[in-house]
Amino acid sequence: MTDILDQLRRATGAAHVLTDGDLSAWEQDWRKRVRGKALAVVRPGSTAEVAAVVRACAAAGVPIVPQGGNTGLVVGGVPDASGTQVVLSLRRMAAIRGIDRENLTMTVDAGCVLQAVQEAAAREQLLFPLSLAAEGSCTIGGNLATNAGGTQVLRYGNARELCLGLEVVTAQGEVWDGLTGLRKDNTGYDLRQLFIGSEGTLGVITAATLKLYPMPAATLTAWAAVPDMAAAVRLLQLAQARLGSGLTGFEVMGQFALSLVGRHMPQLRVPFLHDSPYGVLLENSDHESEAHARGQFEALLEAALEAGCATDAVVAENLAQAHQLWHVRESIPLAQAQEGLNVKHDISVPISRIPAFCAETDALLDREIPGVRLVNFGHLGDGNLHYNVQAPEGGDPSAFLREHEERVNTMVYDQVHKFGGSISAEHGIGELKAAKLPHYKSEVALSLMRSVKHALDPQGILNPGRVLDR
Ligand code: FAD
Repeated sequence: MTDILDQLRRATGAAHVLTDGDLSAWEQDWRKRVRGKALAVVRPGSTAEVAAVVRACAAAGVPIVPQGGNTGLVVGGVPDASGTQVVLSLRRMAAIRGIDRENLTMTVDAGCVLQAVQEAAAREQLLFPLSLAAEGSCTIGGNLATNAGGTQVLRYGNARELCLGLEVVTAQGEVWDGLTGLRKDNTGYDLRQLFIGSEGTLGVITAATLKLYPMPAATLTAWAAVPDMAAAVRLLQLAQARLGSGLTGFEVMGQFALSLVGRHMPQLRVPFLHDSPYGVLLENSDHESEAHARGQFEALLEAALEAGCATDAVVAENLAQAHQLWHVRESIPLAQAQEGLNVKHDISVPISRIPAFCAETDALLDREIPGVRLVNFGHLGDGNLHYNVQAPEGGDPSAFLREHEERVNTMVYDQVHKFGGSISAEHGIGELKAAKLPHYKSEVALSLMRSVKHALDPQGILNPGRVLDR
């Protein structure tokens, strides 16, 4: 082992190979449910150094766990407990390599924090639309490796749709320079799409060329109280018809999820909390003017009230109010964590089937575990719900998890499958869901995935046990 450590030190400089002291920032997952043990944490500063690290590990047969901001939610970016895996942290590689204003593209190192990318685009009056609550810590490499979604997907797509080119270090330590800014390029297999969403199992992303958009003239936020999930779906249809591509956000939040924000963050004001089973947050981005956006929004909400798909609604008066409304939505994950551990699901179902899915699955869970509480919220505009299951009021969350986690997962995922959905909408598979995947994916799909893995990483050194079970 000293041999490989020496080689890693030669590749990156000894200061960037960490083996002692508190390594929990790299070894523990964001939800603090898993604590691994790394052989070393290696922090290369360039693509050439990443390639040298991978070559050294490949020669020694040492497994590599690529890591960005370590905000992933499916245990994909931390080492296992064996003490034999190298964590390859990309965080030192954080340069904006260049912005091409005319081509509307930006090329960045993989370790760039998402918020820094958004800010660099904004300085040019341009928009990089990927947006999620972890944006102050997660990296572009991690976003692409997990094909992250977030709050703007219904207008701009997932991370996959926002990436035109990639630079990747292969499992053999070669550098593939695919950093193109082309919007059209049909020259054979699209390698970039293989690496996006592969969760560090096929290659190490070292840089990306990203799509930018003109900054809207105005972005307004509204909140609507809705009587049930079917009404929320009708409101979505109405908003899409009226606002078209101006509709850039459509988030649904169940009353219990919102009440947890009220309980644990009393300083935040939750609109219409006690008046309706669901709240909906809408965002309208307009390229004309704020007055135009406001007029459109008010007309939409009036129509929604008339049609009975909203019982009350308000448009934020100014940016501060809009931030407050988004803050309520983004505080749900923290509020539920403060209430205690719960069984988390990041699922998608065709939007048309979400009301029936919720009605049936809510009833099933309540029948099987009386008093169980559902923290249901998410990106309804993309058919993506975070359908989380919390212990009955007063129950011990850890005991609840020990006793019910497996059964709850099976009930929810079987329901998702029955309704034609996916057991991972945006967080990925990681280690957490690797054993579940074979139950819900066809043998043909799994066999193709194994062939791709074997072709690109025949030694199996890149993030073993993640996505595909060992
Ligand atoms: P990490 O956690 O470090 O890694 C994630 C995976 O990517 C691991 O498998 C890792 O091996 C791999 N990886 C990382 N970097 C590279 C690289 N350079 N090359 C190859 N593989 C790599 N996700 C959403 O999609 N939508 C949301 O709305 C959302 N909200 C979130 C809110 C909170 C509060 C938190 C904590 C997380 C949220 N997430 C969300 C999870 C999301 O997946 C991550 O935030 C983000 O995409 C991961 O980026 P990261 O840099 O932290 O990656």
